[in-house]
Amino acid sequence: MLASKSYLPLVSILRNPTHRKLSKMPMLPHMVKLTADDSPGVMADDQLKSYKEHHKEPHVLTTSNGAPIYTKTASLTAGKRGPMLMQDVVYMDEMAHFDRERIPERVVHAKGGGAHGYFEVTHDITKYCKADLFSEIGKKTPMLARFSTVGGESGSADTARDPRGFALKFYTEEGNWDLVGNNTPIFFIRDAIHFPNFIHTQKRNPRTHLKDRNAMFDFWINRPEAIHQVMFLFSDRGTPDGFRHMNGYGSHTFKMVNKEGQPIYCKFHFKPTQGVKNLSAADANRLAGENPDYSIEDLFNAIERKDFPEWKMFIQVMTFEQAEKWEFNPFDVTKVWPHGDYPLIEVGKMVLNRNPKNYFAEIEQAAFAPAHVIPGIEFSPDKMLQGRIFSYTDTHFHRLGPNYIQLPINCPYRSRAHNTQRDGLMAYESQEDAPNYFPNSYNGYRTREDVKESSFGLTGDVDRYETGDEHNYEQPRQFWEKVLKEEERDRLVENFVDSLSGCYEEVQQGMIKIFTNVHPDFGNAVRHALCQKKH
Ligand code: NDP
Repeated sequence: MLASKSYLPLVSILRNPTHRKLSKMPMLPHMVKLTADDSPGVMADDQLKSYKEHHKEPHVLTTSNGAPIYTKTASLTAGKRGPMLMQDVVYMDEMAHFDRERIPERVVHAKGGGAHGYFEVTHDITKYCKADLFSEIGKKTPMLARFSTVGGESGSADTARDPRGFALKFYTEEGNWDLVGNNTPIFFIRDAIHFPNFIHTQKRNPRTHLKDRNAMFDFWINRPEAIHQVMFLFSDRGTPDGFRHMNGYGSHTFKMVNKEGQPIYCKFHFKPTQGVKNLSAADANRLAGENPDYSIEDLFNAIERKDFPEWKMFIQVMTFEQAEKWEFNPFDVTKVWPHGDYPLIEVGKMVLNRNPKNYFAEIEQAAFAPAHVIPGIEFSPDKMLQGRIFSYTDTHFHRLGPNYIQLPINCPYRSRAHNTQRDGLMAYESQEDAPNYFPNSYNGYRTREDVKESSFGLTGDVDRYETGDEHNYEQPRQFWEKVLKEEERDRLVENFVDSLSGCYEEVQQGMIKIFTNVHPDFGNAVRHALCQKKH
């Protein structure tokens, strides 16, 4: 029955005594498939027609408790013109559920799309990492990816100038590993305490309920560590051509640990085999009006026509000794590790080959959290990462409830959770009848020596350390001088001028000062272009 193509809701599988062996076997057929759907692809526009072609006989309409109903085109009334009756359970069932159809949208990354696929190891990195998914060349691990914009609401335009979320969930045999990054290797701030305030400037002004570019730039003027990411954002890569043509990064510094228990710091990079492509600012603006769902549609249709997007995964590694000696703080997420010193090491590929059948269940309810790590992948002292370890699970508890991790899309179905957590809103995982306490004397649980986290030393006085002024300009200068070509620098300046020209004079001056700190040519170019625009 498990191999059947029909979808079995998790709860019915768990309750069915014939599936008692579940803890040892993959649970949801639609989640474990590593290959593409064999059904013929359907372009987004043709979805309804395609449903009809494949379902010659309609299902009998029922209530949510499965009872067949007579009609759904007339409410139950006393007389032809009369009032409705409380006992119209068809109406009540429909409307009460409709009233609850929306859950809170994500505070950030509300608009997004995603797909299922797999990760396959192509190169051996076991000398660095013991994580199950990297254990041998050729090993495939099912996964889910969700891509998103950051600041807009769930109906906003996909082509907005904004970083793109690049969130990955690997369903490994040793638990789910979430790598929750962006299409940029860096971020705006380096201390998580700034996050809520920074995001306020990306959202709406509380008085006008409008986006406020003065607030946005004002925050960046006050936190100059943002300039590296801000330059990425206003460069061509700030408007990627859909989700398939952008890089992905784990962004933070992580730690990998091998079988011998030796740790090394690392960063994760993903490069699209289909190449990086960006939209011009003009096209991005046009598409925001013409097709605000441009990126979601592009991903969906590519997968349906079996043009499966693929990314190669690389790591960079840095030893503890190198970390001690590096000129910058290796745990500062506003910095990259230069490729020349820390070359990319190829690991494998990620292929997305299956669209969700139910967007809400498989993408909207997907909950990614940097706290979801597995043996072999650990945290670094990166303050942004440390802050996110708390905040992501916390927001999922709010958005999806205390048992969000039991939802089919989030549950570690290839390893299964065996813990002492029980109950709470919407709990349906009974964990058979194992004791709900540990330690116990009744074979409830055992632990494993080999998955102990690596130990590390810490020194330092407990304090609140201001980090606003730590080498803010060296890497942005490299980006301006070495990475961008002349025409790319021109477009960077143009994009800033477009945005800044509607700002207060003092905001323009504040940003010009920061650009000048990056490079005098940069500051001059923006000043000059702003001046010309005024006259
Ligand atoms: P390299 O000269 O080896 O490579 C330049 C990097 O810049 C490439 O990774 C390239 O990505 C990326 N890049 C090109 N255009 C843009 C853009 N518009 N927005 C964001 N990234 C872009 O770099 P180094 O490692 O020597 O570092 C030099 C500077 O390059 C850094 O200070 C940083 O600003 C930038 N950079 C570095 C990265 C790193 O991880 N080391 C990653 C991204 C940027 P691709 O390979 O896809 O073309």
